[in-house]
Amino acid sequence: MHKDIATPLRTREILEKYGFSFKKSLGQNFLIDTNILRNIVDHAGLTDESAAIEVGPGIGALTEQLAKRCKKVVAFEIDQRLLPILEETLAPYDNTTIIHQDVLKANVREVMEQEFSGIDDVMVVANLPYYVTTPIIMKLLEERLPIRGIVVMLQKEVADRISAKPGTKDYGSLSIAIQYYTEAETVMIVPKTVFIPQPNVDSAVIRLTKRKEPLFPVISEDFFFMVTRGSFAQRRKTILNNLTSQLPDGKAKKDIILSSLQEAGIEPGRRGESLSIEEFARLSDCLYPYFN
Ligand code: SAM
Repeated sequence: MHKDIATPLRTREILEKYGFSFKKSLGQNFLIDTNILRNIVDHAGLTDESAAIEVGPGIGALTEQLAKRCKKVVAFEIDQRLLPILEETLAPYDNTTIIHQDVLKANVREVMEQEFSGIDDVMVVANLPYYVTTPIIMKLLEERLPIRGIVVMLQKEVADRISAKPGTKDYGSLSIAIQYYTEAETVMIVPKTVFIPQPNVDSAVIRLTKRKEPLFPVISEDFFFMVTRGSFAQRRKTILNNLTSQLPDGKAKKDIILSSLQEAGIEPGRRGESLSIEEFARLSDCLYPYFN
């Protein structure tokens, strides 16, 4: 039996052997606690018939635990210096493929078609690079990939915003964008001490389970997201004032915005943070004909 990668001792041995130095700009904070990794994998509900996509395998700590649990793992890693390390650390696992690419530029759908033929259940599982968590999650959701969901470690503050409910200080356009596609829950809070180097912020693991259908289907998703982003442009402003300043030609169309709010049953003096996703969907559809 070989030793798990994610122990402080083995991780240091590997890093020293290759003279590896962490790049802060790539969000390199590696996990050194095998129990935490197993917990993350547990939350993904994988079986030996499942596949996993990982973003940023580092030296393979999470990749190893995924490889033990499912049929196939594909991991995207941007840092070329990690490739020879991964070749050594993952040598015992012939069900892993490393792709040397920035995940934001990758054709993930095509990779899934090539690597996961005959596999129906696919989860994204990762300890994300913190400088780029939101763009990665949004890419994976907006591309409507055939995945069941996403279980990822990220900054606790971002996890709080993603899973926030209306009327709370954390609720905003990010909560709406992600909850529109998924059911979002924080499943673990993770201390700084289980990483090297330790990050400056607290961490959490969230599970995003994709909805079969969007929460409240809208005429145009692009316009719906424009309305939600515009409604939170200045949190202290009313929804009427935010939309007037944010929508194209909003000032000239103030009366239309006012009547659309009334048609959607939304009092114009409310603030964006008090509106449910259903109310935003209704409002977006009422406004749509006048802005398109
Ligand atoms: N999975 C490892 C672990 O848990 O110990 C490492 C996680 S570390 C937080 C993030 C990893 O993502 C690093 O290996 C980093 O090089 C990689 N990375 C950063 N930006 C990336 C990108 N745009 N595409 C793919 N990988 C990226």
